[in-house]
Amino acid sequence: MTQSYEVLLYYRYFKLEDPDDYAREHRKLCEELGLRGRIIIAREGLNGTVSGTRESCARYREVLDADPLTRGIAWKIDQEGGHVFPRLSIKVRDEVVTLELGEDDFNPTDLTATHLNPSEWREAMKGENVVILDARNDYEWEIGRFEGAILPEVPSFRDLPGWVRAHRSELEGKKILTYCTGGIRCEKFSGFLLKEGFEEVYQLDGGIVTYGKDEEVCGEGYEGECYVFDERLSVPINRTGKAKTVSRCRRCGGPTVRYRNCAWMPCNAQILLCQSCEEETGRYCDSRCREIRLLSCAAVIGE
Ligand SMILES: [Zn+2]
Ligand SMILES: [Zn+2]
Repeated sequence: MTQSYEVLLYYRYFKLEDPDDYAREHRKLCEELGLRGRIIIAREGLNGTVSGTRESCARYREVLDADPLTRGIAWKIDQEGGHVFPRLSIKVRDEVVTLELGEDDFNPTDLTATHLNPSEWREAMKGENVVILDARNDYEWEIGRFEGAILPEVPSFRDLPGWVRAHRSELEGKKILTYCTGGIRCEKFSGFLLKEGFEEVYQLDGGIVTYGKDEEVCGEGYEGECYVFDERLSVPINRTGKAKTVSRCRRCGGPTVRYRNCAWMPCNAQILLCQSCEEETGRYCDSRCREIRLLSCAAVIGE
């Protein structure tokens, strides 16, 4: 397959007066370029992941790099053979990442922790008195994470502050290294940790995706794959030749990073399912979802 498309992952925190107006202009630009993907715009900034032809993506980067508001974005670029999103969605929200701090909300342009580049991060992970804290959701770290990381059992980002307050003793007095997919959530989350009184907080600059692309570290110390929010579902990170699969098929228990949605629509749960199990019993959580689905199909065709 020729890799004539790109997938861009990017964010920028800034201060915006009129996000609706900005979103209208931004939509015009994306539609002209035929981009697809998901973009969130808020007063505090921009968070996006899009796919498009190489030319369109180059033009898009050029426009954003020339705009004083978005200049300086650290683009994460993957080469692909086609679009990885079905359509374009641009939404205006209160926050670019939903931490729901309410009155305590702040802009990471005012407060965020020290950034570590991939080489610095790799060294820091080996340090004394260190905790590595995954700032993503449970279904993300299930298929891949840094070795030895604390994995908060939270279904969404907005649950992390509560988790931190309930687990203070695990973090107190430690050097906290926090990471996420592309870095945007950590900009905010690390600032939150500082506000909570933790003193030594660091974040992985550009997130796991940047770590995986770095030619020097080659993804060392990362196990499994990295969950991404597009049709690919996950991308490989560790290129040292020592990558291991940490997640298991829910049916046979064999190693897999293959996420699928349960075929019984009212359930639609995202499940880890290996290819041979799917071929054997279909795309279901368990026999219950399978039976209900087959019964309802039988009813439709009048059996
Ligand atoms: Zn299986
Ligand atoms: Zn199900």
